Amino acid sequence: MSQQNRKDSQNENKECKNCIADQLHYIVTPLLQWYDNHARVLPWRENPEPYAVWISEIMLQQTRVEAVKPYFDRWMEAFPSIFDLAAASEEEVLKLWEGLGYYSRVRNIHKTAKIVTKDYGGELPRSFDALIKLPGIGEYSAGSIGSIAFQLQVPCVDGNVLRVVTRITAEEADITEASTKKLLTQWVRTIVPAQRPGDFNQALMELGATICLPNGIPKCESCPVAHLCEAFRRSQVTDFPVKKPKAERRKEKRTVLLLIRKGSVAVRKRPDSGLLAGLWEYPNYSAELTESDVIEELEKKGLSPLNLTKLKKAKHIFTHLEWHMNGYLITLRDDGKDSSADEEYQWIESDVLKERLTIPAAFKAYHQILLDTFCSQDKFQGAPNSDSY
Ligand code: SF4
Repeated sequence: MSQQNRKDSQNENKECKNCIADQLHYIVTPLLQWYDNHARVLPWRENPEPYAVWISEIMLQQTRVEAVKPYFDRWMEAFPSIFDLAAASEEEVLKLWEGLGYYSRVRNIHKTAKIVTKDYGGELPRSFDALIKLPGIGEYSAGSIGSIAFQLQVPCVDGNVLRVVTRITAEEADITEASTKKLLTQWVRTIVPAQRPGDFNQALMELGATICLPNGIPKCESCPVAHLCEAFRRSQVTDFPVKKPKAERRKEKRTVLLLIRKGSVAVRKRPDSGLLAGLWEYPNYSAELTESDVIEELEKKGLSPLNLTKLKKAKHIFTHLEWHMNGYLITLRDDGKDSSADEEYQWIESDVLKERLTIPAAFKAYHQILLDTFCSQDKFQGAPNSDSY
């Protein structure tokens, strides 16, 4: 192809993309009409003040709407204002997030609350540029807070929106590429209406969450923009969005120990950076240890195992990693001697574990066994025999 021909073809492509973006304008009115009749009733929509929009949007990046509702209600009860949140301790904030995962997000919420209290009189700034400078607020969150709470005419493009837009336009670019996301965001930016930008962004996300579904068949028969959808016209809805296959997750074996001594259980803090940074955990090893390995490891630390019970296997999936875990409950003799484990571990009672410490969901299976089976009133007790739990 000559240089001139290549240029012509690139220009045609560009024009073609521009006309797709032009076509997208037609979805605005039917989508808003549909949203007026079908928007789900959600706690943060009842009173969309900026603080509630911010917290709900960050929580919704973690999990499904139904799972977010109780977390959101508990959060708002504990911290009714940004001032209350800024004044809380990190342990209190983490505890309310326990189970949602991605703890760096909640730490950023806490940092932002302190900045907003100090620099903005306790109210989130009203401009996109100021919002995006705050910790944990990226382009998506600034777009959702800006459009929903402040009626700014800005897009907010999440996975739902990417799916809907690639189907309507039959866009074949890989949505895992940053350049595709940039292009689609630009298209959405051109159609966000000046009137009701927040409702429009929510309508697009709502359509993706309830009608234009990700796995399985979308409910095109109920879709308000089916007459404008190119993938539907071609009967190719499940071919979009195009995504390159995910890299396979690394699998890692782990052994988790529930160590009980004098009615308390051992926990330790993880390093300040990396996976589950700075959170509490039960002692664990990155290998599958046998009973005799465990006894040997404990004796090296100067601990004297009295009774050891093998627990069920458990699995936890992170984004790029899987932990395949086995676990032991071990009662230790209290022989009054100093042990190197006392520098590494903290020995805590059950009320502290339940009310104050945040144990990440990765340890949920063993945490639950400990609370359900070995916790009597305010103390932990060892297992009476070697049955498996
Ligand atoms: S017609 Fe089907 S594929 Fe197209 S936007 Fe609607 S639900 Fe999605």
